[in-house]
Amino acid sequence: MSNFSRAYIGLGSNLDQPVEQVRQAIDELNQLPLTHRVSTSPLYCSSPIGPQDQDDFINAVAAVDTQLSPLALLDQLQALEQRHRRQRERRWGPRTLDLDLLLFDQLDLDHPRLRLPHPEVHVRRFVLYPLKDIAPQLSLYGKSLSCWSSALPASDSVILLN
Ligand code: AMP
Repeated sequence: MSNFSRAYIGLGSNLDQPVEQVRQAIDELNQLPLTHRVSTSPLYCSSPIGPQDQDDFINAVAAVDTQLSPLALLDQLQALEQRHRRQRERRWGPRTLDLDLLLFDQLDLDHPRLRLPHPEVHVRRFVLYPLKDIAPQLSLYGKSLSCWSSALPASDSVILLN
């Protein structure tokens, strides 16, 4: 029996060459310890949630197989965000890369640092679409990803980039 867990990671960026930020982070996911990337969605472009005086976001979802615990994987993702953030602070500005741990096997977790499934996974089109691209068989809270997508308001739009 495999001792790997399947985790899904949401990536987002809206600053400092966001397409490159996301592509680089996807490569870096494959270099995390005890972890390898198994699939990556296409890139999507989405309008920002909240304040509109900022650029659109580039989003993607990657699946990894990992022997890390959920919290150890979160530590790695936060360290990866920091590495991108340090680069940004030095060269261009204050922020660039967001990494969310969306799902970790079938785990339900309510830890102060980590909630699984990620609480917004089923209400964000920019997460549901790329997740559906690479894992159409998944369901959340008893409903398919397509079902969750079709329940979202039409204004919550995303554009497929590649
Ligand atoms: P944000 O920068 O808005 O993505 O929020 C990051 C914070 O959310 C950190 O303090 C994390 O510990 C916490 N968090 C809780 N659940 C998750 C999750 N599933 N994935 C990523 N961060 C999470």
